[in-house]
Amino acid sequence: MSGHQLFEHSLNVRLKGRMERQLQRKRRNLESPPGPEVLVGGKRLLSFCSNDYLGLANHPDVIAAFKRGLDEYGAGSGASHLVTGHTVAHSALEEELAAFTGRSRALLFSSGFMANVGVLTTLLDDKDPVFQDKLNHASLLDGGLFCGANFRRYPHKDMKRLDTMMEGSNTEGLRLLVSDGVFSMDGDVAPLGQMLKIAERHRAVMMIDDAHGIGCLGKNGGGLIEAAQERGAQIDEIRLPILMGTLGKAFGTAGAFVAGSDALIETLIQFCRPYIYTTAMPAAVAVATRQSLQLVKSDGWRREILRNHVQRFRKGAAELKLPMLDSPTQIQVVMLGTPERAMAASAALEQKGILVTAIRPPTVPPGTSRLRLTFSAAHTEQQVDQLLAALAELKLPPLPSS
Ligand SMILES: *Cc1c(COP(=O)(O)O)cnc(C)c1O
Repeated sequence: MSGHQLFEHSLNVRLKGRMERQLQRKRRNLESPPGPEVLVGGKRLLSFCSNDYLGLANHPDVIAAFKRGLDEYGAGSGASHLVTGHTVAHSALEEELAAFTGRSRALLFSSGFMANVGVLTTLLDDKDPVFQDKLNHASLLDGGLFCGANFRRYPHKDMKRLDTMMEGSNTEGLRLLVSDGVFSMDGDVAPLGQMLKIAERHRAVMMIDDAHGIGCLGKNGGGLIEAAQERGAQIDEIRLPILMGTLGKAFGTAGAFVAGSDALIETLIQFCRPYIYTTAMPAAVAVATRQSLQLVKSDGWRREILRNHVQRFRKGAAELKLPMLDSPTQIQVVMLGTPERAMAASAALEQKGILVTAIRPPTVPPGTSRLRLTFSAAHTEQQVDQLLAALAELKLPPLPSS
């Protein structure tokens, strides 16, 4: 075989392995904006897959702001932030995000994946211990692996194990504790209060990735931290120094930010390679995001609708005895176990005009293939009921009790 043939052969062997285990991924070509109803292959489907939780991705004010931004700044930023890609629009958004999260400064990144990899690789030296929940987002796990840190993963939300792990780890250098705020594939919430106590006891620094909390939780959409403060928790930039949030979910645009102290943000500007060596997000995205931030803050009713949908769905799902995970957020999970069952359920729903993706390994641990349903303020109650009716017709067997 030639070099090229060997190459193609090795790729095909890998791909075949995925196919045989029903783990192959497939992209859909949408012919419409994201929203409760999407057009796929000329067919209208009711979608419960989007992370556009507040319905801002297709909001007329956000689109108008995007267009204004294009007229003012052009399509592309033309350079990285440290060259000439950084505009007054980026700067203004950073200041507004800092104020919104109650932190000294914020820094924009082109994507959440880059923000997470960037923060971890910048802050951690070789062998510095980083403690992560096993169900953390792939970008956090990869960030820890990329920098050769002493990578420690504790079982999901197992605070006893975390405490013991920290007890036994060396105490020189930085000790970083990192967690999703709302877990992206399970919808449940990190035990912030306990994590803060453990971090303080072991003099560890804490980072929260609030990709799915920001905009959705808290009275003003400030996310998991605001929600905890409402219940009386004292959380500030000193106790929880690193906050990361994404803009492509509740904010409906694209990109991400890290918020924290002046020293943290300045360190990232100086040393964070995924920040420095990439083209700045288009300024028009920043202009549009400033508009969506206004809506996130002003439209508390969107969060209320979202909460109502979740309650309505969970009540209906309990009546149907669906094998649900215990999630209080807009991410709801019907646990099916095997990839085959998850794929079959997803296909059966699509037959009924409902789009719900099957999530399988390696995105989730083996044996936990599932339907991941996400709700949006743009859904109607009637659409939630339609989903419940379709799930009822699937006649899913209840989760075997363990
Ligand atoms: C989506 C997500 C990211 C990545 O953000 P992008 O902007 O989509 O790259 C990071 N962390 C979590 C928890 C996420 O859900």
